[in-house]
Amino acid sequence: MRIGIIGAGLTGLTAAYELSKSGHEVTVFEKESEVGGLAGSFTVNGESLDKFYHHIFTSDTILLSLLEDLNALDDMKWYEPNNAIFIDNKLFSFTTPLHLLGFSPLKFINRVRMGLLVYWAKFVKNWKDIEGMTAKEWIIKKAGKDVYDKVWGSLLSSKFDIDTDKISATWIWNKFKLRGSSRGKNINKEQLGYYHGSFCRICELLCTSIHSHGGKIFTSRNINQILNNNDNTLTLISEAESFSFDKVIVTTPPEVLIKLYPSLEPNYLQKLLSIKHKANICMALELTEALSEYYWITIAQQEYPFVLLIEQTNLIKDNRYKSHIVYLSRYLDAENKLFSASDEEIADLFITYLKKMFPKFNEKSISNTTISRARYAQPVFFTNYSDKLPELKTPIENLYLASMSQIYPEDRGLNYAVRLGKQIVNEITKM
Ligand SMILES: Cc1cc2nc3c(=O)[nH]c(=O)nc-3n(C[C@H](O)[C@H](O)[C@H](O)COP(=O)(O)OP(=O)(O)OC[C@H]3O[C@@H](n4cnc5c(N)ncnc54)[C@H](O)[C@@H]3O)c2cc1C
Repeated sequence: MRIGIIGAGLTGLTAAYELSKSGHEVTVFEKESEVGGLAGSFTVNGESLDKFYHHIFTSDTILLSLLEDLNALDDMKWYEPNNAIFIDNKLFSFTTPLHLLGFSPLKFINRVRMGLLVYWAKFVKNWKDIEGMTAKEWIIKKAGKDVYDKVWGSLLSSKFDIDTDKISATWIWNKFKLRGSSRGKNINKEQLGYYHGSFCRICELLCTSIHSHGGKIFTSRNINQILNNNDNTLTLISEAESFSFDKVIVTTPPEVLIKLYPSLEPNYLQKLLSIKHKANICMALELTEALSEYYWITIAQQEYPFVLLIEQTNLIKDNRYKSHIVYLSRYLDAENKLFSASDEEIADLFITYLKKMFPKFNEKSISNTTISRARYAQPVFFTNYSDKLPELKTPIENLYLASMSQIYPEDRGLNYAVRLGKQIVNEITKM
């Protein structure tokens, strides 16, 4: 079959890899000048670094088996992170259960209730039972209002902004489950994986294999229309060219599919229209000095303009970037003015708060900043999301959608992008 794929993120490239290996004629179209999508990278002192901080969990076995298949597993390295929460203007270590027991912003009984909440998440066997409940209702029911107000409420709102109160319990339950599963038998030790040379290298390895199997990958090729022809083939139109295929896989968010093919069948269109995404701003700072001892700091103070501080060089400590790397991340609505603010405005605001958080921080230690923005960073999982989940096979003959908003009840992630890429291949090649 001649198969066209829109998007060279990990989903599109995995699908192209599998299809080209099975002898299909594959062409991938990517609007950006580089492949990788959200797993894309930039260069710091000759070393590739993710635009958006990434790590994987030991339970991400589908990604790990893809690496094995590519003969590239050796470069997946495992590290023990040091985590913290910033609350009441103080940093609290938050890596082991003992840290939770000493977490003074909560009364002792509530620390225990918070720990039990995460522990009990393992025992929810059927996520459908809690899908209709909001995360807020579920957390308050299980761990009390204090735990919600002090910790989880502000963390949820830092990710989902104005939609916080509508997020399904399934989303937070899944996060608890995932984080726990990366601890294995020793609950004191969490293991996080990082791919040597950035996760974008996995995309590059896939590209090499796709090319070697005769597949084509076009970058800087924005597809702006899909037409269906009388013989059920599909034509993809970019600025000056058009290409015809037997089948087409769209790996962009649903909102983009609606623009590419506006006359979708009303029921399917309605599902696509009900899906919302948060945007993300991520600033990477190159520093001459370390900022803290932590890899991952969650900021539980709503006045802060960023919600996560990730010190990459506290996980990857081999000085490969020849500087200390810190990411500051903020999820927000795309309509929020901050999302379209200039890089300078964002940097000024973020650095002002960084100085509040670390009063000894010297701005002169910043040697460079890079701001990356993603319009479609996080699907918003409202209650009863499964009712709105669009099928992979669209009502248009030979047209398929494989977007990160269809990964459910799990949340989007590299492992699930690979799973989705494989799933869509099974769907289109089944008889
Ligand atoms: C801030 C942040 C942190 C993250 N951290 C982690 C993490 O630690 N661990 C983890 O596992 N996952 C993480 N993720 C999630 C992970 O990056 C994604 O799940 C994964 O990369 C999604 O891949 P994808 O191919 O489905 O989508 P995308 O990467 O979004 O790929 C879609 C591609 O389609 C292209 N495209 C769109 N429209 C068109 C068009 N009209 N024509 C041609 N091309 C088009 C886009 O440019 C893009 O390259 C993170 C994401 C973000 C935003």
